Amino acid sequence: MAATYDFLVIGAGPGGYVAAIRAAQLGLKAAVVEREHLGGICLNWGCIPTKALLRSSEVFHLMHRAKEFGLSADKIDYDLPAVVKRSRGVAKQMEGGVKHLLKKNKVDVVMGEARLAGKGKVSVKTDKGTEEISAKHIVLATGARARELPGLEADGDLVWTYKHALNPPRMPKKLLVIGSGAIGIEFASFYNTLGADTTVVEVMDRVLPVEDAEISAFAKKQFEKQGMKIMEKSMVKQLDRAKGKVTAHIEAGGKVEKVEFDTVISAVGIVGNVENLGLEEAGVKVDRTHVVTDEYCRTGVDGVYAIGDVAGAPWLAHKASHEGVLVAEFAAGGHPHPIKPNSIAGCTYCHPQVASVGLTEAKAKEQGYKVKVGKFPFIGNGKAVALGEPEGLVKTVFDEKTGELLGAHMVGAEVTELIQGYVVGRALETTEEDLMNTVFPHPTLSEMMHESVLSAYGRAIHI
Ligand SMILES: Cc1cc2nc3c(=O)[nH]c(=O)nc-3n(C[C@H](O)[C@H](O)[C@H](O)COP(=O)(O)OP(=O)(O)OC[C@H]3O[C@@H](n4cnc5c(N)ncnc54)[C@H](O)[C@@H]3O)c2cc1C
Repeated sequence: MAATYDFLVIGAGPGGYVAAIRAAQLGLKAAVVEREHLGGICLNWGCIPTKALLRSSEVFHLMHRAKEFGLSADKIDYDLPAVVKRSRGVAKQMEGGVKHLLKKNKVDVVMGEARLAGKGKVSVKTDKGTEEISAKHIVLATGARARELPGLEADGDLVWTYKHALNPPRMPKKLLVIGSGAIGIEFASFYNTLGADTTVVEVMDRVLPVEDAEISAFAKKQFEKQGMKIMEKSMVKQLDRAKGKVTAHIEAGGKVEKVEFDTVISAVGIVGNVENLGLEEAGVKVDRTHVVTDEYCRTGVDGVYAIGDVAGAPWLAHKASHEGVLVAEFAAGGHPHPIKPNSIAGCTYCHPQVASVGLTEAKAKEQGYKVKVGKFPFIGNGKAVALGEPEGLVKTVFDEKTGELLGAHMVGAEVTELIQGYVVGRALETTEEDLMNTVFPHPTLSEMMHESVLSAYGRAIHI
């Protein structure tokens, strides 16, 4: 007899496994179907292993600065296979953690490839054949994969996607990174720090194009100081592949330049995994490569939801997980609040780190706000100087009329940890007054978050 569940999730990434656990906590009989790896892209080929690699390059960078701290370090070197082994080990450990959590919460795990197979039904291809599962609520959480542009497709040798870059066949000597979003810049930062001669090509007018223009400009200066070549408003039109080398045709300002590299990382975006899921037959709407959903992640087909990367931007693990919780609570008869996309922070773990939430200054103005803008540089903060990290900026954008914190934008050490303070602020609909009246501990980097707010109102103390 076909297994029957209250809540069945397709895909065990940070969207899917979190949804299944929350559903089980709420008393629903829950299962998750996964074709490859528990924890999805995030734990296995995304957020976590990249951060493990970046930690190695950060330590390597600091070792070179040993003298500055009154220390000595000789013969500083790295062993790329060992760096990668550590990163793969961290991913494996986290995957094991998800397995444990699913078991602890009594979520059944079915390893196989699933597709919708009629109302309230899913068919799963497993090693042992095809099985049918029935469920009242079905959640599509199938994630996304790297976008491939014609002519720039990855081959795993000369041209890599993020997967190859996470488990590289060699250390690149002359590296081209196509695309300067979070994924492209993190790999550029990692390989550049380890000594690859790195060029980043970005089609938009600045690196990290979704960030506030001032933050992008600040980050660019730092990347260039570290030896990266940044080409903005530029496009890779063609890659000529030969033995051990690639010639990139890069168009900028109407001219095409041919440059040789030994490795190319293509980081030009992602596409949702919408194929072979029986979506069309089920009547689930797809817009380009993403399932169309409403604010409660409903697809419009009764009992079918979509969450995480397959449901569209922002393509972030914490957005996927939050949607997972929302859907589980909704299915259990709760009344969850819809997500406010403007309150989801984005973090990039390059060196220096970049983090932001809400509207950029330009976007706020575009939307008709009269703004008050505060800025505070890392050089004015005792902890930043003590850490040897005096380069960075905290920028805040307020609605002049109401004092609402519209956006916060940061570049510098540990800002990916700091941003959450502003995220909480936005969730609580905080105003400049609340933030100014908050006591920040000393000495911390977080004091800059206070000072930035004070600066928007002409009250900063340390600049
Ligand atoms: C290099 C890189 C770095 C990243 N860094 C960050 C970061 O620092 N912070 C951040 O927030 N985000 C980061 N991301 C993005 C993050 O990984 C994704 O937003 C997140 O994984 C999305 O979660 P998800 O559950 O929607 O999908 P996924 O994690 O993609 O999981 C989907 C799962 O569904 C499975 N699946 C697909 N189809 C089927 C099927 N038919 N049957 C069964 N199983 C199926 C897949 O095997 C997969 O395991 C990064 C991504 C990359 C590539």
